[in-house]
Order: sequence, then structure tokens, then C-alpha cells
Amino acid sequence: MKAIPYGRQHIEQDDIDAVVAALKSDFLTQGPKVQEFEDAFANYIGANYAVAVNNATSGLHLAVLALDLKPGDRVITTPITFAASANCIRYAGAEVWFADIDPDTYLLSLEKTRELIESYPKGFFKGIIPVDFAGLPLNMEAFRDLAEAHGLWIIEDACHAPGAYFTDSKDQKQRCGNGVYADMGIFSFHPVKHIACGEGGMLTTNSEALYKKLASLRTHGITKENMAENHGGWFYEMQELGYNYRLTDIQSALGISQLAKNDAGVKRRIDIAEAYKNAFRGKIKYQSLPNGSYNAHHLFIIEVDDRKGLYDFLKAQQIFAQIHYIPVHTLPYYKKIGYESADLSNSETYYSKCISLPMYPSLTDDEQRFVIEKVLTFVNG
Ligand SMILES: *Cc1c(COP(=O)(O)O)cnc(C)c1O
Repeated sequence: MKAIPYGRQHIEQDDIDAVVAALKSDFLTQGPKVQEFEDAFANYIGANYAVAVNNATSGLHLAVLALDLKPGDRVITTPITFAASANCIRYAGAEVWFADIDPDTYLLSLEKTRELIESYPKGFFKGIIPVDFAGLPLNMEAFRDLAEAHGLWIIEDACHAPGAYFTDSKDQKQRCGNGVYADMGIFSFHPVKHIACGEGGMLTTNSEALYKKLASLRTHGITKENMAENHGGWFYEMQELGYNYRLTDIQSALGISQLAKNDAGVKRRIDIAEAYKNAFRGKIKYQSLPNGSYNAHHLFIIEVDDRKGLYDFLKAQQIFAQIHYIPVHTLPYYKKIGYESADLSNSETYYSKCISLPMYPSLTDDEQRFVIEKVLTFVNG
């Protein structure tokens, strides 16, 4: 049997054709495909605006800048995420504060976040960066209530969750990143995520002011609008210090093609998740799904006591499981800053047991049966 990774991209002939067409067009970058991708993405997620960027890490950087995060400010995130969710806070010179996860959903705990916020004076924290971890949506309405009570903003890291939704108190389905409860959302188009562009990311928001700020910061802070002076057709102004965080037309063409298949991809992921759950129910703990939630299943995570044993056992069978994630506060950079003493015991216990099994649309039923058989063989001793 060939090697089975934990995740991989799904590229078909029409994706390749879309890229070739972009290569033959007049624009390799800064052309019409970028806007087309942004419009299609905003429409898919149900947000008013979308801004394409060269990766989600750049997007997170722009998001904190657009919210005017300053050195010395404090922002809360989860330790169980990719480092970029926290790193963007450091890019702005601000402090990262971690709140613990819920031991069953593995999501940033609303209660732990509330406890942390309420143990400091009002104004102590500036914002929250919660993560729809593994594809499972947070209840963003509940986070909004908490944030509003304390004057905080929310950047929803939805990198794992395009197409996922939770059901709010008005019985409305709210897609991750739709900007109804969070100020901004961020998505990644790295090949292990749902939509592959090679590298790429998308910011979403319902705020026109934030949209304009993000679009300006993405391209050096250079604009031809609202200029103080105008010397002629060539003229532009750089009104603030921005970056080159642009996505190309080549990547956007691939993104448009990939986005159109996302619903089908998520459906297949859910079928794979169901097959895992049916095989493991009552025997192995897996991420729980709150009522009314639709999990986009970037990952399928189980917990086992001998996690290293299972990882090595699967690897010997050419099954490349992965660990998501080493808690961010235990990474050497964050340890040096002094986060190791925080009480994040749920995150640390979770990390000692978690392992992500293969989860991607092109995983075949036979391959999945093989994975399940090997996991059960190991767990049953
Ligand atoms: C992948 C990922 C990112 C960063 O995405 P890039 O596009 O690789 O920069 C940020 N946050 C989370 C939760 C991720 O999984």
C-alpha cells in the first residue's frame, strides 16, 4: 500500500486548466482573477468583503495592524493552534495571553477566557483570536457577547473551517468567518487546508473601514484614492506603511477552481469522519461535536494514552499521522518570554494524547479501512 499522509491537496484537471489559462492571460498578478476570487469567496462565506493575501500568516499580521494593535497591548488566544495565530500578536509588539481549551471540543474555552478577562481591570486586554480548531466552529455569538462586555475585538482564525457553521440563538446558521460576530476572519490556502493555492490566504469582514485598511496595507499602503495631491495619471500616494502581501492571479485562478469544490470536499470529509466515529465509538475518544455545529473536518483527532507508540506503529505501516499541535506556550520562543508557567493543563493533557489520522477528500475507503484496522490493532494491544 502506498504512503498515506494525514492531509493532502486534491488537484484535478480543471484546476490545472484554470492555472494554465491564467499563465496565458495578460496578468500573472494584480489582474482580474484576484478580485474574482475575493468576490467568490466573500459570497461563499457570506461576508461583505474579502481580501486575498499571500498566506494566512500575512493576513493575520494585517488583521492586527488594521485593528491598530500596539506594543504593550494584550491579546488572548488558544495554545492549541498553529503558531501563526499567536505570532501575529508578537509582530505588532503586543503580548500573547493564552486561555485553556475545553477538554472535549479542544476549542478555546469560553469560560476560561472569561475567567482570564475578568481577573484583570477593564481595558487590560484588546482582543481575542479564537480558532475554529480542526474545522469545528466556535460559538462566535457567545464570544461576541463576552468581547462586547469588555470592549474587545475578535479575529476569527478560520483557517481550518471554510464551509463550517454553528447555529446561533436565533436558529440561524452562521458560517465561520462570515463577520456577523467576529470583526474579521482569516483562511489559509496552504495545500493541507481545504482549498489549495500553493500558498495563499483570505481575510473576510463586514466592515467597509477594515476592508479598505486591509486592502491598503496589503499593497504597501499605496493608493490612488483620497490623495492630498495629484500630479497626473501616474501619481499615487503612500499614505501609511504597508507590505507586499499580494496573492497572484495564477494562485487566484487555482483558488477559484478549488473553492467551487469545497462543499463536496467537506461532505467527503464528513463521511470519512463518520466512518472513523463508527469504528471508534465507545473505544477511543475523539473530538466532540456540539449540537447545531457543522464541522468542516480539516483534521480528525483521537486521543490515546500511548500516543508516541501509535504514531510510530502507524508510521511503520506507511501511515503518516500528525500531531496538532504542540501547545504554543511550550515552544522555546514562547517559553523564553515566560509563558510556561501559565495554567493550561487541559491543553497539556490533550497534547500528551492527541493524534490526527488521515483526513482528506481523496482518501479512499480501502485506505481508511486500513488505517482504522491498524489503529484498532494497536489500541486493543
Ligand atoms: C495554517 C494555519 C495558519 C497559517 O496559514 P499560512 O497560510 O500557512 O500562513 C494560521 N492559523 C491556523 C490555525 C492554521 O492552521
